Amino acid sequence: MSRTQIKKPAKTQKNNKSKKFVYAFGKVTDGNTTMRELLGGKGANLAEMASIGLPVPPGFTISTEVCTYYYDHEQRYPMALRQTVADSIKSVEKQLDKKFGGRKNPLLVSVRSGARDSMPGMMDTILNLGLNDETVEGLADVSKNPQFAWDCYRRFIQMYGGVVMGVTARTEEEEDPFHVLLEKLKHKVGAESDNDLTTANLQTLVTQYKALIRKRARGAFPQDVMQQLWGAVSAVFGSWRNERAILYRQEYGIPAEWGTAVNVQAMVFGNAGDDSATGVAFTRDPANGEKVFYGEYLINAQGEDVVAGLRTPNSISQLAKEMPKSFKDLEKVRSKLEKHFKDMQDFEFTIEKNKLFILQTRNGKRTGLAAVRIAVEMQKERLMNVETALLKIPAESIDSLLVPVFDPKALKAATVIATGLPAGPGGATGRIAFTAAQAEKATREGKKVVLCRTETSPDDLKGMLHSQGILTSRGGVSSHAALVARQLGKVCVCGASGIKINYEKKTLTTGKTVLNEGDYISIDGTTGAIYKGMIASTDSEVKRVLDGGLKPSKSYTFELFQTVMKWADIHRTMNIRTNADTPNMASQAVAFGAEGIGLCRTEHMFFEGDRIDYMRQMILAVDEVQRRSALKKLLPFQKKDFVGIFKAMNGRPVTIRLLDPPLHEFLPSDDVVRRQLAERLDVPLDYVIDRIKSLHEENPMLGCRGCRLGILYPEITEMQSRAIFEATAQVLKGKKKIKVKPEIMIPLVGFREELADQLAIVHRVAKEVMKKHKVRINYLVGTMIEVPRAAITADEIAKEADFFSFGTNDLTQTALGLSRDDMGLFYDEYQSKEIYNKNPFSSIDQRGVGKLMEFAVERGRSTKPDIKLGICGEHAGDPKSIDFCHRVGLDYVSCSPPRVPIARLAAAQAKLRNS
Ligand code: ADP
Ligand code: MG
Ligand code: MG
Repeated sequence: MSRTQIKKPAKTQKNNKSKKFVYAFGKVTDGNTTMRELLGGKGANLAEMASIGLPVPPGFTISTEVCTYYYDHEQRYPMALRQTVADSIKSVEKQLDKKFGGRKNPLLVSVRSGARDSMPGMMDTILNLGLNDETVEGLADVSKNPQFAWDCYRRFIQMYGGVVMGVTARTEEEEDPFHVLLEKLKHKVGAESDNDLTTANLQTLVTQYKALIRKRARGAFPQDVMQQLWGAVSAVFGSWRNERAILYRQEYGIPAEWGTAVNVQAMVFGNAGDDSATGVAFTRDPANGEKVFYGEYLINAQGEDVVAGLRTPNSISQLAKEMPKSFKDLEKVRSKLEKHFKDMQDFEFTIEKNKLFILQTRNGKRTGLAAVRIAVEMQKERLMNVETALLKIPAESIDSLLVPVFDPKALKAATVIATGLPAGPGGATGRIAFTAAQAEKATREGKKVVLCRTETSPDDLKGMLHSQGILTSRGGVSSHAALVARQLGKVCVCGASGIKINYEKKTLTTGKTVLNEGDYISIDGTTGAIYKGMIASTDSEVKRVLDGGLKPSKSYTFELFQTVMKWADIHRTMNIRTNADTPNMASQAVAFGAEGIGLCRTEHMFFEGDRIDYMRQMILAVDEVQRRSALKKLLPFQKKDFVGIFKAMNGRPVTIRLLDPPLHEFLPSDDVVRRQLAERLDVPLDYVIDRIKSLHEENPMLGCRGCRLGILYPEITEMQSRAIFEATAQVLKGKKKIKVKPEIMIPLVGFREELADQLAIVHRVAKEVMKKHKVRINYLVGTMIEVPRAAITADEIAKEADFFSFGTNDLTQTALGLSRDDMGLFYDEYQSKEIYNKNPFSSIDQRGVGKLMEFAVERGRSTKPDIKLGICGEHAGDPKSIDFCHRVGLDYVSCSPPRVPIARLAAAQAKLRNS
């Protein structure tokens, strides 16, 4: 540490005295849910729950400021802390009439970390702290259950030895040494589960554990309970900087300065016998959003047993039968939590001798479908207003209502071979892969796979990402597989206990059915059903309703979709357009809610059928006469396309971009095709080859393309304009009265003069067509802003342009001096070094490219206050970029048809967030 970083002691001292470092919860509660920064998410919500009368075991939170202090002062604590903690323990002792370190009725506590944002499993928790050789006897006496007391003690030494004293596996191959001793003993005495160990067995284990610590750690396991407490507190603060936590923070962008809080809380025991249990629950189904109680529990168990997967937990509904009274209490808590926190909650509970305690609550992670359903239903239940509901739905989640599902007909014909828990909605079909590596390999070979495992672990993440879906035979709804599916939006069926997976033989067996690696399997993550073989998919219900194939009243998913879209349309101020080149795409986008076309590329229209021949003829022409004759043949094709699009858009604005790509993209590179071309054009092959050679460019992206083409060959601009206006005239004069408002867009402009040159042609042709057909045509001519010079001289360019459309793909390429197709070599390195934190081609580089856009908007409007502004790059479908576009004041965003619903929602959220 450098000298200048050391703080003045006097000032720190003064701060210490006035500062509160410890916050109680229980009979007296100092904190509340808004104090996440200071108390961490866990501490703030424990305080909130205690203050609304929920049964929370008492305790206190050491604030995140202590963590910061600890790291600023060479891992020492503020002076006053020791006394404050001792006083806080006393207060807990009083509330429970127990004594910390007492022989008679010992108080045990848990020491838990809790950062501002939850970092599940990243840092360490210690349970049963306060046990030693003496208090364990006390616990045995008051509970009249020595086996339970000794089970707590061995669990405590195990956790303390690992977390605080660093006795853990020394290599990746080695197993946890405590676990090894436990398993050895179980094997020796013939115990099947941990619960089968007798008191004497557990006492032996405690002796072995202590010996292990003496051998491997610097000192012995501490008998002094205060020493235990400070050891644990320091371990929690220390874990803020452990490798796992650092990695996690990097992944999720959590700053190191935030620090963690430490929660010290009186223990309650789910392992006190068969009238006790521990569990995890969600107030609604986090997989599909349904308002049902969801979760799981284990009788006679403690802490992480539920998640650890050693025993398979029971579904929460079974608790109604096993512990009816506690279940009723739990139902009450469930509704109180939702009413109070106004969101779906994910909470932890423990039942000790039929008495219920709540240990944690937080807003539950959910799938996209669940996010939509929960927001809509909570608004209906008046738990939140429309604005809040809109903001609660990550814009991308709309996608999960639009993904293909199993074809209902195919589903009827398929054979169900087993069922599991539906943990990630949707249908997935693929070949069986039993390992993450195999899933990756098969995917790379172009196969679709379903990853099938007994259970998954964090090592399987990459393979899971590559799979269509995930199937596990063990583990419940809080297992790793279910968690990942919820976060990544993967199809998942978990805990299908009817399935046996044999990794060695590479088989998956249910009853008489044996499937091998590579065989097809299908899983339905909405129902939990597992099918043999392939099942065809079909459009989502939403799409089928929009296409008219399904009645709206028959689909609840559609109702959800429609509700959210209506809300979004009321709140957003930006218009949503689409990028579409064909009538088909246009109609699809309109069904999804597009209000116009923001980019109709014309080059695609030149590839179909005979057109490419005329196009090539045009390009290879030696002079204007030849060129015009080829263009004349292309004109009717273009016109017909535009008529189709105008009709499909039914009066909505359509922005048409004139020819943009370099010409050689249209020419054949293949010798055979070149020869055919020469024959068809009736010219010598050498001529074709020479002409192609002469069109070669070293760097076509920066060559003769965009408006440069139209300036070099004005006949092209003329033909395209004529096609647009002729089509407009035809539709305007058609039987069905359809309005048409074409907006002609000149690409790659960097100089005002370029635009002026092209403009003159467009206006001239417009006049000619209007005169010929005796119609008035309303049209606009504008430009793309896609090179930095255009952005910088936007005030000049705006003199010519009726509108600007930001072409952010090219603007990013030209502003960053970076070709999108050539970033593969260094991209990963740039990401891991955090030079790019996001791919600049998928989310607008707001600090760079965004600055150019802001500048252009401001300059453009200074010349022409009502100039129309939009964006048509791929960024227009990215919620973060949409938020940016709203902030800089664009009139519309134009994205690909399938992203239109996402853009509608994102635009509404941008408006709500920024007003
Ligand atoms: P994480 O935040 O990583 O889930 P927690 O601090 O919530 O870790 O604790 C881990 C486990 O220990 C949870 O199952 C929790 O319910 C349990 N636990 C924590 N404190 C207590 C306590 N005072 N009494 C009983 N169980 C507890
Ligand atoms: Mg927890
Ligand atoms: Mg471009």
